[in-house]
Amino acid sequence: MRLIDSHTHIYAEEFDEDIDEVLARAVASGVERMVLPNVDRESYPRMMALVERYPKVLYPSAGLHPTSVGADYREQLDFVAEALAHVRFVAVGEIGLDYYWDTTYKVQQAEAFSEQIALAHRYGLPIIIHTREAFADTFDLLRRAGRNTTRGVFHSFTGSEAELEEALGFEDFMIGLNGVVTFKNSQLKTYVQRIPLERLLIETDAPYLSPMPKRGRRNEPAHLVHTLEFLAGIYGCSADELGEVTSQNAERLFGLT
Ligand SMILES: [Zn+2]
Repeated sequence: MRLIDSHTHIYAEEFDEDIDEVLARAVASGVERMVLPNVDRESYPRMMALVERYPKVLYPSAGLHPTSVGADYREQLDFVAEALAHVRFVAVGEIGLDYYWDTTYKVQQAEAFSEQIALAHRYGLPIIIHTREAFADTFDLLRRAGRNTTRGVFHSFTGSEAELEEALGFEDFMIGLNGVVTFKNSQLKTYVQRIPLERLLIETDAPYLSPMPKRGRRNEPAHLVHTLEFLAGIYGCSADELGEVTSQNAERLFGLT
């Protein structure tokens, strides 16, 4: 089985002590490649240093995360634009809107999201969307950006069934699922099967959101198999089949070769 963790933050400090073991466990469990979404200017050097050590295994994405949109957001956006002009990335992200943690910079979050969508257009890249308690505005900004040129993934999808239907209406977008779908109290499992297989991505979002039975512990790419097996049960196929399809989806979206 060859799997792709389509969203993981293994450059985070949580992995400073044992990153080589973490990556060895990932590969041993079949997770051969990983997409690393950036958060902000501060996390960028850590991400790129790790990518340099593991080429053809780790693929970086450049972007300003909505929870990092603050007083210095203009400089942060300049930094993203500069990075995209000089380095080859597989996506722009993660970008989007987050009203859960803080709404102080709501207007600036929208501005940052729209500007980064425009950057993705310029470089012909997909976008990795983070949206939390902000689906209506996210859909609205996406529509204004133009459906024909915008493609990407709604990462860590945890919305309602109605929100899933609306997300699927954006035909060039995939839906990224992670450990949350395995949680006992999550309703997601009752309707995720509406996602056509060719539009499904799997991810860990490590170090967060460890799937059952690892819930509560630090998440890592090797844990992807638990989410894979859980979803294979929902779709009524083998983990091998689902792994193959979701890997092909990630390759197609991010242009991995
Ligand atoms: Zn993330």
